[in-house]
Amino acid sequence: MHRSEHGRFAACANFIDGRWIASASGRVFENRNPADRDDLIGTFPESTPQDATAAITAAERAYATWRLFPAPRRAEILYRAAQLIAERKEQLARDMTREMGKVLEETRGDVQEAIDMTFFMAGEGRRLYGQTVPSELKDKFAMSVRQPLGVCGVITPWNFPMAIPSWKITPALVCGNTVVFKPSSLTPLSAFNFVKILEEAGIPGGVINLVTGGADVGTVLCTHDAVKVVSFTGSTAVGRLVNQNAAPGFKKVHLEMGGKNIVMIMDDADLELAVDGCVWGGFGTTGQRCTAASRVVVHERVYARFLDEFSRRVKQLRVGDGAGDGVQMGPSISESQLETVMRYVKVGREEGARLVIGGSRLTGEPYARGWFHEPTIFADVMPSMRIAREEIFGPVVSVMRCGSLEEAIGIGNDVSYGLSASIYTRDINKAFTAMRDMYTGIFYVNAPTIGAEVHLPFGGTKATGNGHREAGIAALDVFSEWKSIYIDFSGRLQRAQIDTQEL
Ligand code: NAD
Repeated sequence: MHRSEHGRFAACANFIDGRWIASASGRVFENRNPADRDDLIGTFPESTPQDATAAITAAERAYATWRLFPAPRRAEILYRAAQLIAERKEQLARDMTREMGKVLEETRGDVQEAIDMTFFMAGEGRRLYGQTVPSELKDKFAMSVRQPLGVCGVITPWNFPMAIPSWKITPALVCGNTVVFKPSSLTPLSAFNFVKILEEAGIPGGVINLVTGGADVGTVLCTHDAVKVVSFTGSTAVGRLVNQNAAPGFKKVHLEMGGKNIVMIMDDADLELAVDGCVWGGFGTTGQRCTAASRVVVHERVYARFLDEFSRRVKQLRVGDGAGDGVQMGPSISESQLETVMRYVKVGREEGARLVIGGSRLTGEPYARGWFHEPTIFADVMPSMRIAREEIFGPVVSVMRCGSLEEAIGIGNDVSYGLSASIYTRDINKAFTAMRDMYTGIFYVNAPTIGAEVHLPFGGTKATGNGHREAGIAALDVFSEWKSIYIDFSGRLQRAQIDTQEL
């Protein structure tokens, strides 16, 4: 293995049927550091539909035995995997920062989320609770059990390269399914690291398969007859395609998509706390979180004060290579993502929003070889403007004005997405009203729009999701289906709803 000034060079393979193998195409793609495009991290298979099909076939074969392997034993493998991730946390976080740019403190959090999720799902191996209910008939027993579905296609984005795969893969496995995993081509190393650990933890061949590559690999996962569940996190545009492609086969499709999340700041809020939350919520992960606080609506009585302090704090953010000491915000993930950010800044200006700070790409040393953009705030944004409605996925926050809680909630709900929202207020009545009336999957009081914990459901409404949730025990509902079982031990025919019981 070659070592550059940043670290190792990895030539990685797919993982199919328990073996690390190259793509049948023989082709590879490069993985480069978004903070320094000269840093080549490694090469990964540019897989073909044939590779995806081979992985699905292996997963289908492995399912026959894995589904019968007792769930507590399946869980023990996950438990060992969680321990291994914890032991290697620092190196895994460094690999992640190098391939996707967010600061080390945050990639450590990403890895920690994978540890938490994997331990959580290991615990589920001894639960996977169903229901037992009294029968309406005598000498009859009634219960429901969870059963696995088969092969699960797991398709993930780049912004949480280990946490999101763990949210999908660990519940799929503990329920007794097998998996074919296609990560984003921008973060294949973290996917490789995660699967390598599952292998070391003792997962049998074919139970987890890794196939790197692009949309054609993803399409096979959405259309192949043997795939029974597709769990996708990514953009709404691709999620729609995934849904359409999977529909003819009646697959169970779990979609987690885009967001345009809002922080609502009332006139009685602790403004210092609200500023802290908006800096972290808006610019953490360079604004590239599905739950990023990309909209802030502030009561007109505290608008000017909030804006002054918010822009003063954001101006101080130190931008640079996420691995650098004291760096608070890393680069955009790619050149095309940076271009999207610059395009939206132009749109915001043309729409008449007031650019308060930022607005430009960062050039010159130490930014010359990376995809860096200034943290950017637009003020006096109107709710109808595109920068207030469309997901930008970069370090751009739109600040709007409101005159009441009702107006803030109206603005908050008036977008096509419904992932996360938050309110800063000291008034419990306002907090509860907003909690009830914001139509989102996640809601925070006196905290920013980010900060989910793994043991509660995660997901969104409207164009963010299709009704499923991941994390928590809600994830088990994606990766299992119910079987209701009736055992009649009366020795005679008993007809439900027809035979009445004498006392
Ligand atoms: P993306 O939609 O471009 O890609 C997501 C994944 O889909 C990648 O692995 C990609 O290779 C794959 N893909 C692309 N075309 C496909 C096709 N035709 N069929 C099947 N798979 C295909 O998203 P991205 O840029 O990687 O991630 C950013 C997006 O993800 C943002 O919109 C963000 O909001 C969203 N996201 C949502 C959540 C959530 O939980 N709601 C979490 C993180 C990110």
